[in-house]
Amino acid sequence: MVGWSYIIVCRNCGYISTEKLPEKEAKAQLHAHVAGGKGCTTGHIDLMKVRT
Ligand SMILES: [Zn+2]
Repeated sequence: MVGWSYIIVCRNCGYISTEKLPEKEAKAQLHAHVAGGKGCTTGHIDLMKVRT
């Protein structure tokens, strides 16, 4: 069975998530990162789809 996960990459601060996350969690992390106060916005962040 092929599954997909996501890695969060922020082009503003260089943050890359260390874990592969399910889509729902990746989106939650994305919003948590934006709320983190480093001046990052959703436009800076890419969700990279990766095979698990
Ligand atoms: Zn960032």
